[in-house]
Amino acid sequence: MTARVVQKFGGSSVADAEKLRKVARKVQARRAQGCELVVVVSAMGDTTDELLGLARQLSADPPRRELDMLLSCGERISMALLSMALQELGVPAVSFTGSQSGIITDESHAQARIVEVKPTRIVEALGQGKVVIVAGYQGVSRSKEVTTLGRGGSDTSAVALAAALGADCEIYSDVDGVFSADPRVVPEARKRESLSFEEMQELASAGAKVLNAQAVEFAREAGITIHALSTHVAGTGTRIEALAAGLGVKGVTAEKELWVLEVREGLAEVLAFLDERAVKPRALLGSPGAHLVLVPLHDVHGPEALSAALTERFRGALAVRHALGTVTCVGTGLNASFTVLRGALEDAAALGAPVAGHSLTSLQLTLVVPREHLGALTQRLHRRFVG
Ligand code: ADP
Ligand code: ASP
Ligand code: MG
Repeated sequence: MTARVVQKFGGSSVADAEKLRKVARKVQARRAQGCELVVVVSAMGDTTDELLGLARQLSADPPRRELDMLLSCGERISMALLSMALQELGVPAVSFTGSQSGIITDESHAQARIVEVKPTRIVEALGQGKVVIVAGYQGVSRSKEVTTLGRGGSDTSAVALAAALGADCEIYSDVDGVFSADPRVVPEARKRESLSFEEMQELASAGAKVLNAQAVEFAREAGITIHALSTHVAGTGTRIEALAAGLGVKGVTAEKELWVLEVREGLAEVLAFLDERAVKPRALLGSPGAHLVLVPLHDVHGPEALSAALTERFRGALAVRHALGTVTCVGTGLNASFTVLRGALEDAAALGAPVAGHSLTSLQLTLVVPREHLGALTQRLHRRFVG
């Protein structure tokens, strides 16, 4: 049987017509090697942010169904243009939306989960010798509503399609794989040849947006190796796979797009309140006299309304802290001794960064600190633990 490959190109790789043409040539070259190709694309450049900005000009808390109708358009623009670029090169191609690709999700607008993939039309088109271009980040619910998968969700589209098609999965972006820290923050960061699913999932949920956490979770469940590669250079990238990882810190990452809810009493009620509004906390930390609930903001579309509702409902028992962020060391066996925790606390103290809370498991150490210290603390912890 001909090998099947799913390739995914992110927003920066398809940001303008020239870049789309470059991706088309890359796809053409790959197809010439004799495989069946499905190409998942993200919205061009900052399109999703721009669409969100438009929505927010009209509504502080936009109806999620309409948000999905809007945001799903970004990826449709890319899919149609890439298909045109390929056909211009003489490569037979056809574009499909998430719905046409058979990506079925639950009903949860703006952060839907894929529940099933029925790629009948994709298989048919591949059989006709076409390259299939799929709009990432979207699906359709059983009630035939268009849904989107949460920010960074095109990675998840790619992994889910690879699983359904029995294909290899290659995710291309502007970096040659996953590094020990964001190379924009830590220039001496090292590229990792491989990371375990668990390590990558921790890195992604703690803010390393190079891969989407849910995509990694899907890959882990389906047993699919993800190859994270560069669109621009022919490097070896990083394999995300089920390997028995070596011990130690593999990466350091920071997250500033979050709120820390300091909950002094009524934790169960606060968690229920968030759940009713489909707000998904990332973690729960203990700190003296309070629980800290970390709420990532990238999929919260009415932040002011949420903050006001929380303060109103839990007056006195809860404070929303807007100026904190997290720095997270990810690896394996980090709680085998307290060396990592101790070193991290020493570095925070040396920077004068007050630690509002911390959590330590085998896979990660997280410190909650004021946002202004995130960059310097990331660099310092990287120097200490990665070198
Ligand atoms: P795409 O648009 O292709 O989906 P993203 O912008 O989502 O790409 O992800 C790529 C970016 O992730 C890089 O430009 C880099 O700045 C950032 N990044 C954050 N942490 C890491 C890391 N540990 N390794 C590599 N890149 C990282
Ligand atoms: N375009 C969406 C986003 O910006 C999805 C993605 O790029 O994966 O989050
Ligand atoms: Mg991305």
